Amino acid sequence: MSTTAPVSPTRLDAPTLQLREVTKRFPTGTTALTGVDLGVASGDFVSVVGPSGCGKSTLLRLAAGLDQVTSGDLRVSAATTSYVFQDPTLLEWRSALRNVELVGELRGLSRAERRAAALAALELVGLDGFEHQHPRQLSGGMRMRVSIARALVAEPDLALFDEPFGALDEITRLRMQTELQRIFCMKSFAALFITHSVSEAVYLSTRVVVMSGRPGRVVAEVDIPWSYPRPPELRYSAEFAEITGQVSAALGEHA
Ligand code: ADP
Repeated sequence: MSTTAPVSPTRLDAPTLQLREVTKRFPTGTTALTGVDLGVASGDFVSVVGPSGCGKSTLLRLAAGLDQVTSGDLRVSAATTSYVFQDPTLLEWRSALRNVELVGELRGLSRAERRAAALAALELVGLDGFEHQHPRQLSGGMRMRVSIARALVAEPDLALFDEPFGALDEITRLRMQTELQRIFCMKSFAALFITHSVSEAVYLSTRVVVMSGRPGRVVAEVDIPWSYPRPPELRYSAEFAEITGQVSAALGEHA
């Protein structure tokens, strides 16, 4: 007799992250989000763009369970959620390897298990050979790679990114976009990605969500048609310009 528990089709179809009519009002009286509907399933890479102060970080904090909705419904079916911040937030006194191993330590993995997982994650982000360097010995892009390795080492079902490349120079930023796309193709988690860059959003995503100025609500969703991997030159094509134009127009209309 099989011991595998039956999986209901609704569970399989359910998005990893689902928001319905979500409103967030802070005790100060500021309403950051109003009536937000959003679903992110495994294999979706959803970017959120919107003017400053429209509630993008608030949305991510709600998805991470760091804050509670005021009204509406937010469901997360992920066993593991990870969060990548704009600042890599590494421990300066630990090597790259020991920074990534920290996740395994906190989860109670054995030394051998957490080392193997950390080495695999560092290899995934292209940092093999740099495991024993300390953060101050690494470039900004490499520190961000360590931060991404630390987020992915726990094999998340849901990965939340709060403008991770916002502080990087343009060349490094484009390179990191290509790297993140490669990793996403391999791991296929559900990704929710906040960015100020329309072209970054379009290049990386399966769908771009445009939010209005505060209180933030979803004013447009643009499906991105291209399969992965997407060549870097795609960014210079007419079809890319057309879609970034659609997103920018929606942003401009509702800013
Ligand atoms: P974004 O990430 O789009 O720039 P935020 O989510 O950071 O926007 O903020 C949305 C709005 O909510 C802003 O007006 C901000 O000042 C306000 N806000 C964010 N966090 C808090 C908080 N903890 N208490 C009160 N107001 C907050």
